[in-house]
Amino acid sequence: MQKVAVIGAGTMGNGIAHVFAQHGFSVHLIDVSQQALDKALDTIVRNLNRQLSKETITEADKQQTITNLHTFTSLAAGVQGVDLVVEAATENVDLKLKIFRELDEHTGPEVILASNTSSISITKIAAVTKKPGKVIGMHFMNPVPVMKLVEIINGYATEKSVTEYITDLSKQLGKVPCVANDYPGFIANRILMPMINEAVYTLYEGVGGVEEIDTVMKLGMAHPMGPLQLADFIGLDVCLSILRVLYDGFGNQKYAPCPLLVNMVTAGYLGAKSGEGFYKYTAGSKDLVVSDRFL
Ligand code: NAD
Repeated sequence: MQKVAVIGAGTMGNGIAHVFAQHGFSVHLIDVSQQALDKALDTIVRNLNRQLSKETITEADKQQTITNLHTFTSLAAGVQGVDLVVEAATENVDLKLKIFRELDEHTGPEVILASNTSSISITKIAAVTKKPGKVIGMHFMNPVPVMKLVEIINGYATEKSVTEYITDLSKQLGKVPCVANDYPGFIANRILMPMINEAVYTLYEGVGGVEEIDTVMKLGMAHPMGPLQLADFIGLDVCLSILRVLYDGFGNQKYAPCPLLVNMVTAGYLGAKSGEGFYKYTAGSKDLVVSDRFL
């Protein structure tokens, strides 16, 4: 059985651990917070139960997936004997560089180190290790058990065999891999974030209201969710930080974040996770209600 370590047991880490464990990998899920590990296991069991009720897995699959999961609060202990590490810790460049320095110290030369980062340069992360050829981006989408895409990002020094391995592995996990080169935003966020930013500008300049903007994109472009609703789902702070990566990385005014987005983040209106963004959210309700500020 292949062993994989997943670092970070938050939104993405629990989903990545779930998918690997469900596909027969022994998963070492590592987090500095025991509370995050407990919460991740609860979430995985809840999601397995949902799969069970939809009859996409059996009770035996569920039990085997749970058996395949092991939790650790120590990175050094958790990466012992693994073939691959997928890092999904908090999106903070200094934290990621620290984790990759530690990974370099505690893993053998052949162990592949992947990062699930949405926006941090893989080349930069790889450069703090002694094996930059073994470092790669493996960008899963949220929610991981549901979303098919894995964006694979080649750092400047990533070895071809490593890209091939991660491509095959993604297929083995039932995903569809797409390979991108390491420039700000990669493919997904290079295209998505300017679209979201333009939607916020369209609202800011009074061209259309929240509902109009999202309805035009849903019904006119067949998007399953409008850009403002999607921004709320991703987190407005996350959108702003990725836009800043694009703006700084390319030095191009076209990526400048809309002042309305900056204001909303400064004021703590971060979207679904804070209870209000372009829409307001009530626990237990799935109704889409536009924030009073935009009525
Ligand atoms: P999150 O805040 O939900 O979880 C991050 C976890 O990392 C937390 O549980 C935290 O305790 C843990 N952590 C922090 N420092 C650590 C350390 N030194 N060692 C081990 N664990 C540590 O974050 P998330 O949304 O799951 O994002 C994780 C990564 O995935 C980020 O790089 C993000 O850019 C990327 N990503 C997020 C999404 C998304 O929609 N949330 C989508 C694609 C990619």
